[in-house]
Amino acid sequence: MSIHDLRKTYDAGPRKPGIEALKGVSLDVAEGDFFALLGPNGAGKSTLIGIVSSLVNLSSGSVRIFGTDITRDRDAAMRLMGLVPQEINFNTFEQPLDILVNYAGFYGVPREEAIVRAEEELRRAQLWDKARMMSRTLSGGMKRRLMIARAMMTRPRLLILDEPTAGVDIEIRRGMWQTLREINAAGTTIILTTHYLEEAEHLCRNLAIIDRGTIVASGPMKALLARLDVEGFVLDID
Ligand code: ATP
Repeated sequence: MSIHDLRKTYDAGPRKPGIEALKGVSLDVAEGDFFALLGPNGAGKSTLIGIVSSLVNLSSGSVRIFGTDITRDRDAAMRLMGLVPQEINFNTFEQPLDILVNYAGFYGVPREEAIVRAEEELRRAQLWDKARMMSRTLSGGMKRRLMIARAMMTRPRLLILDEPTAGVDIEIRRGMWQTLREINAAGTTIILTTHYLEEAEHLCRNLAIIDRGTIVASGPMKALLARLDVEGFVLDID
């Protein structure tokens, strides 16, 4: 994915200056990467992800996913990427298997194929034995893994997660990490936004730090953290 000089100004109402959420962000994420976007509240992470997933209109700049300009071709964005939002947003009165199959159906996957994929994804998320339970009875961690499984139903080449572990305990986070590692190892590029440096360090090969709408540092995880340490950079995340 390649983002070039992305800008977003939100309208703040009549006679008020707009809110500059992104002030010229450029970013390159190679295919197969596990990439972390780290930043404090209000840094612009959700805005960036909203634009990449075509939920938010950009003010200027360009976003290409594997060569396709998704700001001109929104259907392509839907085909190429899967999104895991921060909040649990499936109907908890449905069963996991139905949630996945119906989601895939919405994106045009034939039902028989969707059932095959759903089994694969539920197994990978360690939820196969819960396929026919009412999803409101699942634990918090299981619900979050179900959201990851759902996003994978369209076989995206790029999976984007918007602070998927915000406010969840370490045990639940570890379960999600395992699923994400497996997905990445099978070839899907992952971009994860997070407040947790420790999580980014655990999972990701490359990192960008965003603050007040600007990328303040980016590069390979270990080298970047070592450099920031030497420079005495203070990461004021939470
Ligand atoms: P958080 O970690 O709290 O989710 P974030 O890094 O995702 O923060 P954004 O939600 O992208 O940051 O917000 C960036 C800036 O844009 C903030 O100043 C925020 O108040 C502002 N903003 C976000 N959405 C809107 C909106 N719909 N209308 C006006 N301003 C907005």
